[in-house]
Amino acid sequence: MSEFEQKVLKLLEDINGKLDTLLKGGTGTTTTATVTPSVPAPAAEPEPSRPKPSELVEKQKEEERLIEKPPVEGRRVCSQCGGTSFNAVEDKSQVLHQMGGVKIYAKKYICKGCGAEA
Ligand SMILES: [Zn+2]
Repeated sequence: MSEFEQKVLKLLEDINGKLDTLLKGGTGTTTTATVTPSVPAPAAEPEPSRPKPSELVEKQKEEERLIEKPPVEGRRVCSQCGGTSFNAVEDKSQVLHQMGGVKIYAKKYICKGCGAEA
C-alpha cells in the first residue's frame, strides 16, 4: 500500500468517525440546529392561461368598440381662441416608437386660427 493510499484511508477513517458522532447526535462540537431546507416549497403549478370563450368574446367586443370610436379630431377646441380647426403636425421631439429606421412621431395640433399648440 502506497503512502498516498494510506493517507486516503486515514482520511476516510476520520470522516467515518465524524459521521458516527454526527449520527449519534454529536458531542457538542457539532451544531444540533435543525436543518431548514433552503429550497422553497415548490410553487403551485400555474394554471394554463387559456382564455375562456366568453373572455374571447368580451375581448372582441372591446376591440370593436375601440374601432367604432376613433379619436374625433373635430372636437378639439383651441384654449386660446376657441377655434376648432387644427393642423396636425408631427412632434419631432416625441418619438412614439421606431421600427426599421422609421420613426413614428407623436402628433401635436396647431390651431389654424391663432397658431397655439393644442
Ligand atoms: Zn387658436
